[in-house]
Amino acid sequence: MSQEPQDRPYAGLRLMHVHAHPDDESSKGAASTARYVAEGAEVHVVTCTGGERGSILNPKMDRPEILANITEVRRQEMERARDILGITQHWLGFVDSGWPDGDPKPPLPEGCFGLAPLEESVAALVRIVRAVRPHVLTTYDERGGYPHPDHIRCHEVSVAAFEAAGDPDRFPEAGEPWQPAKLYYHHSFNRPRMQALHDAMQQHGLESPWEERLKDWKPEPEWDARITTRVVCDRWFGVRDQALLAHATQIDPDGFWFAIPRELQAEVWPTEDYELVTSHVEAPTPEDDLFAGLLDHPDATGGRI
Ligand SMILES: [Zn+2]
Repeated sequence: MSQEPQDRPYAGLRLMHVHAHPDDESSKGAASTARYVAEGAEVHVVTCTGGERGSILNPKMDRPEILANITEVRRQEMERARDILGITQHWLGFVDSGWPDGDPKPPLPEGCFGLAPLEESVAALVRIVRAVRPHVLTTYDERGGYPHPDHIRCHEVSVAAFEAAGDPDRFPEAGEPWQPAKLYYHHSFNRPRMQALHDAMQQHGLESPWEERLKDWKPEPEWDARITTRVVCDRWFGVRDQALLAHATQIDPDGFWFAIPRELQAEVWPTEDYELVTSHVEAPTPEDDLFAGLLDHPDATGGRI
């Protein structure tokens, strides 16, 4: 069945998510990704590292032959998730820094993404941004979403590349300048959402997976007030879940990811949430669309604005 143009309002627009590891694209913003793809946008994911140092978090996959081939296994998982989400995916080419376990934390391993010179990783991302020419770029907030060194680094690299990609004096060997119009941070993992889902589970007499987590997580109203943009995407929660399951070494199908019925999630919190950090187009907030301000004039974004 062919789609009518009105079903593809985002045709011609490009969104780029920059993530630290394979699986982050499926656990953060995946339903909005699937929605934009369904409605005509091109969505590109840049994965900074190969996830080589990730632990196996699904007991059913914790087997020696999987661990011995973890880099290749995670690459194949990423390919499946990519196909499920309908995205194009690019590897930035750096090695996972691993989660530094211990107190004090051990130094990061030599040659990892967290230790790579910033100029080098920014140049690599600028090259991809200039080749793909996204209108919108997303990344993590300055805390990394959670404090994995690769997530913090992903934030630093993405923000620097957003600033540099449109500047002809920066990285002149990395392609024709291109300035993405909007920069967002992911904010879907927010406390009010977790509380709302927790309360709804209890009201329905179901066991909430978030009891302990909420006890340890102090309310941060000022942080939550940074959310500017809520993208309704509950129709694509099923696609998000399939993409998550594709990362079989990282996602336990019997774990907390799937503890809350999808219908309840749709009823209680049907959006994925973002913070608009920089916009070179008119885009009053609050808004409900990462492409707000771009639908009428996507061509207005070439060069520095
Ligand atoms: Zn990650």
